[in-house]
Amino acid sequence: MVKADAYGLGAARVGPALRDAGCRHFFVAHPAEGVTLRAAIGPGPVIAVLNGFAPGADGDAELLPVLNGLPDVEAHAAAARRRGRATPAILHLDTGMSRLGLDVREQEAVAADPSRLDGLDLRWLMTHLACADEPEHPLNAAQAARFAAVCARLPAGPPRSVANSSGMFLGPAFASDLARPGCALYGINPTPGRPNPMRQVVRLDAPVLQVREIAPGDTVGYGATWTAERPSRVATVAAGYADGYLRALSGRASGDFAGQSVPLIGRVSMDLIAFDVTDAPGIVPGGAICLIGPDNTPDAVAARAGTIGYEVLTSLGNRYRREYRAT
Ligand SMILES: *Cc1c(COP(=O)(O)O)cnc(C)c1O
Repeated sequence: MVKADAYGLGAARVGPALRDAGCRHFFVAHPAEGVTLRAAIGPGPVIAVLNGFAPGADGDAELLPVLNGLPDVEAHAAAARRRGRATPAILHLDTGMSRLGLDVREQEAVAADPSRLDGLDLRWLMTHLACADEPEHPLNAAQAARFAAVCARLPAGPPRSVANSSGMFLGPAFASDLARPGCALYGINPTPGRPNPMRQVVRLDAPVLQVREIAPGDTVGYGATWTAERPSRVATVAAGYADGYLRALSGRASGDFAGQSVPLIGRVSMDLIAFDVTDAPGIVPGGAICLIGPDNTPDAVAARAGTIGYEVLTSLGNRYRREYRAT
């Protein structure tokens, strides 16, 4: 899953790395993402487009449309018949998200008259789990059962695709022919509440621009929300909400410097944040404070902002210098 620019990490670099590691099936959300990805990874691997696209709208990028409703099925089947050539596609069956995918009535219509699928070369039948990150949630088993039931009523043949990252940890009932992991590839914990089985892949360091001494009673940042209670050293760091360092982290996060945690103080501004580095004398201008890293994972940062690691990664801005390292 490399939608949203590979969860904010850069699909142009992540895509080829996954291809070189053996990935043969890629998913994006928008057709334009698919076109860009095709240029990055070249011909060969499948690139499926979750949001679908109109027949022919993929140019020569050879994208695989996900059909999310009967109108999509009809449009692609009609185009295939016009061209006299079967159209490869993925049929998405909604089993509990009520988001995209053929709904129950549409599934019924196709099961009653499978000729509606004529002209389509269905490569996969897919569904998407709503609660895979909550293993005990009853909707998981219900979705697996509904998917099995509807697949059994459709023309036999296509392999199936069910699990996202968390779904891959739900057990054999959720195994299918093709999993669609996203967050786990990028170090987010697919098993919330249990130890993260994945390695961290993202590190974000931001430069210290200045360090200043302030006196008791002095305040820091917009709204003067933080007041020094002792003579303090304040490090001003070049990152802000315009860089995806969420404003909701104001007064709630910390940075790391050589294994030492330093508290974020005051509000996050657009381009700057401040840390109380009174107890970290090693922090000096020209140095860097780690905002996301092994001791400050995307999940942990997200929890402090009241969100999820996905949002932290996909918010990462485009002013950072990005380095991609083989491990
Ligand atoms: C985003 C997405 C995934 C990947 O989900 P993760 O939780 O990141 O693994 C899989 N399938 C669909 C349909 C998606 O939209």
